[in-house]
Amino acid sequence: MSYASELLNSMMRKNDDEGTVPTEEPNRDSGKRGKKRSHDEGGEDDGSITDVKNIAPKAKKRPASEPAALTAEEMPKNILFEVRDGIRHLKPYWTTYNSNAKGRWIGRKMVDVFQQEFLSQNVNYAKVACKLGRIFINGKQMTDPNYVFQNNDRILHIAHRHEHPVLDKPAISFVADTDDLLVVNKPPSMPVHPCGQYKVHTVLGLLQTVHNRTGLRVLHRLDRTTSGILLFAKNYETDLRFKQTLKAGHWKKEYVAMVEGVFPETEIKCEEPIGTLVVTMGIQCIRKDGKPAQSTFRRVWTDGKVSVVRCNIETGRTHQIRVHLQYLGFPIVGDQLYNSDVWGPTKGKLADYGKPYETLCKDISDAHRSSLWHETVDPKYEQRMKDIANDETIVPEGESLSLDERPAYDPVCLGCNVVKRIPTMDHFRLHLHCLCYETEDWSFSTEMPEWAEHPKESDKSS
Ligand SMILES: [Zn+2]
Repeated sequence: MSYASELLNSMMRKNDDEGTVPTEEPNRDSGKRGKKRSHDEGGEDDGSITDVKNIAPKAKKRPASEPAALTAEEMPKNILFEVRDGIRHLKPYWTTYNSNAKGRWIGRKMVDVFQQEFLSQNVNYAKVACKLGRIFINGKQMTDPNYVFQNNDRILHIAHRHEHPVLDKPAISFVADTDDLLVVNKPPSMPVHPCGQYKVHTVLGLLQTVHNRTGLRVLHRLDRTTSGILLFAKNYETDLRFKQTLKAGHWKKEYVAMVEGVFPETEIKCEEPIGTLVVTMGIQCIRKDGKPAQSTFRRVWTDGKVSVVRCNIETGRTHQIRVHLQYLGFPIVGDQLYNSDVWGPTKGKLADYGKPYETLCKDISDAHRSSLWHETVDPKYEQRMKDIANDETIVPEGESLSLDERPAYDPVCLGCNVVKRIPTMDHFRLHLHCLCYETEDWSFSTEMPEWAEHPKESDKSS
């Protein structure tokens, strides 16, 4: 049996949640769009979105009955990392992406499908990967880019993976560890579960590779840049009970945020409806046809320039706190999405965007797109890809070449051939932290994050 067939067999048991081609686009494996979500300040603001026109396939939604737990075999092991200036960089590694042919792929040429579905890759990537023998269909190396997809085709793609870096500190800390629940204080900078260019560098990935914790079920999410209380169920019963509690509305959640300006001393309630502005990016705004949303804010302290506020939410719309604070005229400090002039001269205060939704949508998309990780692609890379794609004498890599035997640098890997931006702290961390989460059965809370402590009275609680 060839190496690929073995791999394929071992993967048949796994969830098909990886996509086929490495892409900067999050896989949206949480089924966010169009799906009623539980009440987290969710959304997929992972900064890795590359193209509004991206039509990367939505991964299969997991049926409610299917365990969401990652199995031990899914996580790459022993990946080396390096900490530079407080940032944890993972060494790129070889991996396999596997999936079934999607309905819309059937009857179409492989090269056409890959080119259209994965816009963030080099235009010649699909052809090159194929010619190099890195694509396997139903266990057989497929070097013909013109191969036409058939029903039930199982596709395996070998590629070099570059994960995005995350903050080294704070590390994940445990808040509670019972028979049923694992509660952690999630650090900013990492998403909860694998998506796009994050796999090991996720809360689940690090819990598994650093803390040897597996079989955890994600009960709710926090945005990549948000920190705070995050719960996992250790068994199906707890998972189910939690969902019933949420459905019954028996929960309370408190956040803390640092906002621009002097927030008023009196409590402020915001009840503006929230709807989607940019569907492909999950960006929200205040709109009359949006969903009801309710947040209450109380000032903790202000130094005359910024204020720290506590936020209680009654509903859990995507980016609710960020959007409501923007509406009130006190956007979160450093919020790369919602604290920007792109929202109009008053940064979207009172939903006065000063332009129609269509224009706003385009401006926001453009602005966000320019905040990419990739700074410049080596021009030699573009030429090389073109040359290989047109070279009829290319000999495919050996079918049995294992992942371990492959070199550290891959001439056809985009990640190996770009100069990356040095991200600012705002890219890693939002001044938004989930302080407390409680239901009738339990209550979990964390300390105030460092930035929320009063500058002069950091030893006193206010
Ligand atoms: Zn690479």
